[in-house]
Amino acid sequence: MSGLMAGKKGLIMGLANDKSLAWGIAQQLGAHGAELAFSYQGDKLEKRVRPLAAKLGSDFLIDCDVSDMAQLDAAFAKIEERWGTLDFLVHAIGFSDKDELRGKYVDTSLDNFLMTMNISAYSLVAVTKRAAALMPEQVVAEDGTRSGGGSIVTLTYYGAEKVIPHYNVMGVAKAALETSVQYLANDLGPRGIRVNALSAGPIKTLAASGIGDFRYILKWNELNAPLRRNVTIDDVGGAGLYLLSDLASGVTGETHHVDAGYHVVGMKQEDAPDI
Ligand code: NAD
Repeated sequence: MSGLMAGKKGLIMGLANDKSLAWGIAQQLGAHGAELAFSYQGDKLEKRVRPLAAKLGSDFLIDCDVSDMAQLDAAFAKIEERWGTLDFLVHAIGFSDKDELRGKYVDTSLDNFLMTMNISAYSLVAVTKRAAALMPEQVVAEDGTRSGGGSIVTLTYYGAEKVIPHYNVMGVAKAALETSVQYLANDLGPRGIRVNALSAGPIKTLAASGIGDFRYILKWNELNAPLRRNVTIDDVGGAGLYLLSDLASGVTGETHHVDAGYHVVGMKQEDAPDI
């Protein structure tokens, strides 16, 4: 274990099970000495999250639906009560009606548009405001070294940049999320708080299983990404550790791709078979 995250305390939001992207990031943070709290949505998930948190030495669990501002206030009040301050936050949350993650975007209903935007994009703004209030004031020493401030990372997908069939309203929400990252980074930069997004390639998780024809997306990425493979939650975890640690002290407002390079490719690879 390196001491990269030693002495730092952070909240992981969006852990559902050991396939979650949040789990890949949490494991790396734990292995590098971070103290972790976990928020989960509802009793059903608590049963899954509690043993995983315990593996990383944490018993600090908070029930929180991010679409409920009162629950968010209560969650951050618990953090303030137990820890006083917060150094980093992982936002790994997205949701849409799976009936609208197939077919055409033009058929998106108003109710699902608003719900998807609320849970998948606005929630970053809501949690960032509350997390930032608990992050220590930035101190610049005489020799120029900085302490305090904080780091926030959210999870996004390439469907924000280019059309991915079936991703639909979630792509629009991810575009709003990525632009929110830039505005939040600018708002909070003067306080030494960094805000970044990790754009992960497709990974089989609970959330991904709601996306129509996800197996085809996985296969297409594997065959056409420069690395000719799909990424894992360990790949995502390593990049999460980087962005949340002082290694990325000069990085903010960034959408960092962890997708085996898929986003740089403009067309099907010559060696990719027809699928
Ligand atoms: P996951 O199902 O493991 O995690 C999604 C989490 O969102 C769950 O823990 C769920 O409880 C939580 N959530 C949903 N609605 C919520 C609400 N109202 N309040 C609180 N929590 C809520 O799936 P995942 O793939 O690990 O997803 C994590 C993030 O990664 C999402 O933002 C997703 O869009 C993003 N992402 C996933 C992939 C992929 O291929 N799996 C790729 C790129 C980005």
